[in-house]
Amino acid sequence: MGGTFDPVHVGHLRTALEVRDAVGADEIALIPCATPVHRAIPGASEAQRLDMLAAAIEGEPGLAVDNRELERSGRSYTVDTLAQIRAELGAVPAIAFVMGADAFSKLDSWHEWQELCRYGHLIVIERPGWPVKCSETVTSYCAARWVNKPEALRIQPAGVILRLSLTPLAISSTQIRHLRQQNRSVRYLVPDSVNHKIIQYNLYRDSA
Ligand code: ATP
Ligand code: MG
Repeated sequence: MGGTFDPVHVGHLRTALEVRDAVGADEIALIPCATPVHRAIPGASEAQRLDMLAAAIEGEPGLAVDNRELERSGRSYTVDTLAQIRAELGAVPAIAFVMGADAFSKLDSWHEWQELCRYGHLIVIERPGWPVKCSETVTSYCAARWVNKPEALRIQPAGVILRLSLTPLAISSTQIRHLRQQNRSVRYLVPDSVNHKIIQYNLYRDSA
């Protein structure tokens, strides 16, 4: 599951955990991006975003933080990340990239997006306020790939697209940064450990 995670919040974490359980994944890796391709520069530094992620997943089996995009630096392209993971794991194990409906709706603006399914499956999560809809190009590309059952991800290592409806959580990092700007609490939108880091680093006070 890729993202800016600026900061990681309960919407990300609960989604990761429910995807893990829905598909029976061995591990869900949260992969913070380096220089974001589609958005403004993050408010927190790379080290701070990584630190918040590590604090957030502590003690939760099956959730992990993968910092390969930060180590690679420069623009983070998901296709490069999936190709790298595929090369490490070999041809057999199934892998999937998890994204919210908002990210999916802009899929055709991603670098080499048609290649993503060569390396892994896609899992699209419904997100409150973001209907799962996309352009004609993406619609026709996806047409033959949609599956309804999580078990379908085990039949082949890559190539299908699963849509999942999980606990809807209308929480975003943007909302959290705005609350901080207004000097309001973000408690219970993020784990307490993350709330402590936000306060400790005095994040999101001057920029959102
Ligand atoms: P921002 O408001 O800064 O864009 P965000 O909350 O959208 O932050 P990202 O880091 O951009 O978080 O998202 C990473 C991934 O997690 C994306 O695929 C996004 O769609 C998904 N995601 C984020 N929040 C939720 C949520 N509440 N429910 C489901 N998916 C989510
Ligand atoms: Mg986002």
